[in-house]
Amino acid sequence: MKINYPRNLEVTIKTIVWGENVHERTNKIVADLYPKGMHGCIAEALNQADDISATTATLQEPEHGLTQARLADTDVLIWWAHAAHSDVDDVVVQRVVEHVWAGMGLILLHSAHFSKVFKQLMGTACNLTWREAGERERLWVTSKNHPIVKGLPAYFELEYEEMYGEPFSVPEPLETVFISWFQGGEVFRSGLTYKRGAGNVFYFRPGHETYPTYHDANVQLVLRNAVRWAKNDKQRISTVNDAPNRSVQDSLEPLTERGAKLHADGDLGFK
Ligand code: ZN
Repeated sequence: MKINYPRNLEVTIKTIVWGENVHERTNKIVADLYPKGMHGCIAEALNQADDISATTATLQEPEHGLTQARLADTDVLIWWAHAAHSDVDDVVVQRVVEHVWAGMGLILLHSAHFSKVFKQLMGTACNLTWREAGERERLWVTSKNHPIVKGLPAYFELEYEEMYGEPFSVPEPLETVFISWFQGGEVFRSGLTYKRGAGNVFYFRPGHETYPTYHDANVQLVLRNAVRWAKNDKQRISTVNDAPNRSVQDSLEPLTERGAKLHADGDLGFK
């Protein structure tokens, strides 16, 4: 990947809210809750902030709306998906992963735990237990000075949610920002941060499609905070896949070559 990244001279954080956009078109409950799609609702919530500029992209667009040029000009990508993980083109998945390695922020919501992008970045099965019973979810803040929880109370509740329960088979996170309790008794690590390459990654659990979760003021506050946290202020790395050879002549200390060589002189291609 060799990309010329545009310099972001604007103060706003360029954000794409990517929506699978399947349930909104096939299920009346979801369509009534989210007439502009969940992605549209989330983008509107983000655009309430002066420092965030959010647009949307969906599975149905060419290249799923995630062209190389558009991702290169994006600070943070948000990903909601559930029913059509396998329909996402592997070329686009690899493209997103490489942009994260290069420094793009990524926020994965709810059932995006099973997306190709998240599973590739985690390197584990990302399994969990679940139950769709309209339970109350209570999200406890577990890292009270973390920027993602700025302005939140000690806990907040969502009256109707799907239960996700432990064990959640992901790598140990850098930080656990929320732990959820559910009415049925299960608990779940519902806000997790990771670093993958130069990219900041945040997984946030709530957001089952048949409930009004993304209209909730606390959830919207978390998403705005998370976008600010995920933005990497450093210039995106344009050589993320390069593995340059450093010659004997370029070594910092004097070095005499010895032993057998795998690569003949002048043949430095990675084999
Ligand atoms: Zn769900």
